[in-house]
Amino acid sequence: MATIGDLLRAGTERLRAAGSESARLDAELLLGHAIGADRTAVVAHPEAPVGRLAADRFEGDLARRATGEPVAYIRGFKEFYGLAFAADRRALIPRPETERLVELAEAEVLRRLAAAPRPGSPPLRVLDVGTGSGTIAVALAVALRRRRVGEEVELFATDDSRDALQLARENAVAHSVGDRALFLEADLVPRGVVTPWDLVLANLPYVRSDAVDGLPIAASFEPRRALDGGPDGLEVIGRLLDRLPDALAAGGVALLEIGSDQHAAIVELAAARLPGWACSVESDLAGHPRVARLARTSGAIGRDP
Ligand code: GLN
Repeated sequence: MATIGDLLRAGTERLRAAGSESARLDAELLLGHAIGADRTAVVAHPEAPVGRLAADRFEGDLARRATGEPVAYIRGFKEFYGLAFAADRRALIPRPETERLVELAEAEVLRRLAAAPRPGSPPLRVLDVGTGSGTIAVALAVALRRRRVGEEVELFATDDSRDALQLARENAVAHSVGDRALFLEADLVPRGVVTPWDLVLANLPYVRSDAVDGLPIAASFEPRRALDGGPDGLEVIGRLLDRLPDALAAGGVALLEIGSDQHAAIVELAAARLPGWACSVESDLAGHPRVARLARTSGAIGRDP
């Protein structure tokens, strides 16, 4: 019977030959998936025998990975913000850099709750635009529940893809926050909602159309419209900026994920579309510009002329 060590060596070789830049890691994750153990157990027990069924499953998963399919789709989940999110072709795979957006959102919510203690004030309203697999809304809901302030926040999430919304709801239910967030089919901001939001969050597509085909092959398995931000990469974000004067409550803030090369472009776009608003950019853990923060300055309440 083949051992873990044998299968790992052969699997790594095969993935390396197929062009994977993380062949060893991929093989460890996929073998763990096949034998129903986590990666640390795989690494710790190279001498352990692997049964026929698991070896066959590993073989099938290696074949999928060798075509470029992302490990997250093969395993069916991806870790994000300390949680496991169901991942499949209905939506983009959560990226580690998006954790920064959730972190900033969590801090912003806590700051606002501390400034205006509940009960007594209406719940804080948070909208996650283009929620995809629901990662931002669900991670935030779980984080707020842990801090025992879940009841003080009303969470909404939109997507224009019904399939993505279904996955988002599955993720919300899996993390026991299905009743904490309302998932709505909408193009960006839901229409006809009269009460604006205190916090608007979004990880919208921001890759330039001509750069989408140059992304790692794994991205070709993801929904293109979750990545393609139009000719300059900022088309969808620009459409959201146009909606912010109505969508954001007085004193509200929008936190929008951007590409690491879009710092100057987002500041310029905000100046053009939202004159009088403040726009700053926060970096991610790798030190790259990643989250644009937009707020009305006190002199610019209401829709600008
Ligand atoms: N960071 C992602 C990538 O480069 C893009 C995500 C997005 O467009 N929102 O693959």
